[in-house]
Amino acid sequence: MTKKKKDKSDEELILNWKTAAELMVERQSIQKIPTNTPVDELMEGGIEQGDVTEFYGEFGVGKSQLAFSLTVYISGKLGGDVVFIDCEDTFKPERIRQMTVACGYKVEEVLSRIHIMSPLTVEELSASIDKIPENVTPKLLIIDGVTTLFRAEYIGRETLTERQGLLRQFLVKLKRWAKNTKTPVVVTNQVYGNPSDVAFLPLEFRELAVGGHTLYHVIDTRIFVRKGSEGKRIAKLIDSSRYPPAERTFKITEKGVEPV
Ligand code: ADP
Ligand code: MG
Repeated sequence: MTKKKKDKSDEELILNWKTAAELMVERQSIQKIPTNTPVDELMEGGIEQGDVTEFYGEFGVGKSQLAFSLTVYISGKLGGDVVFIDCEDTFKPERIRQMTVACGYKVEEVLSRIHIMSPLTVEELSASIDKIPENVTPKLLIIDGVTTLFRAEYIGRETLTERQGLLRQFLVKLKRWAKNTKTPVVVTNQVYGNPSDVAFLPLEFRELAVGGHTLYHVIDTRIFVRKGSEGKRIAKLIDSSRYPPAERTFKITEKGVEPV
């Protein structure tokens, strides 16, 4: 028996029309969550509830350290729960403890407010958004290495279209979750290699040029992180529709990240 193809009008597609006035009222309840990192200066005070922000850059530039800093500040200073989805298995509680002590926050409180999930597959990653423990209402959700599992499972050029499709699907789901729960989300994304056909582009645009652009409707704000001289790091706001272009220099210390 062949399956009857569903008519488009049968499908349960809920379109959420509203007036600009309604949207304005809705947005009045949306807060900015400060992070106590250079990100606050780039994003006029912090990360908006329901927004997805991406830190991207090469290996070792400090994307995870930035993510840990946000985690420690939000759990230690603001007293919020943080969900940390660690796709690269680089989350170390010892480093969190070091930052917490250096910042003068309470170690036990911080450690007990961070809820970690280390998915091994794309399926586990996707399910982890649906299955956040019921007693946890995160003030921030982080996905460290958001594309890592997709890249690991879908190898080679011929799988690129499928991979980008699935990644996009996942990001749409993540965005919907962020909006519905009014939670700020931060994802980190590692930029690999420099394909020669886009080598003329500035580093921050090369990844976009190799197919990444299909994803970025879902990301509200992108911050490119790169190394500067003498161990310094530079965070640069890329192509934002709402914030003016800017970059900030920071360094990685015991405390986490600090402005230079
Ligand atoms: P990635 O962008 O790949 O996630 P990381 O966030 O892991 O990079 O950053 C790695 C960098 O952080 C390294 O250069 C390392 O020297 C620095 N770093 C890690 N821990 C500390 C620390 N306790 N004090 C100072 N710098 C640190
Ligand atoms: Mg990392």
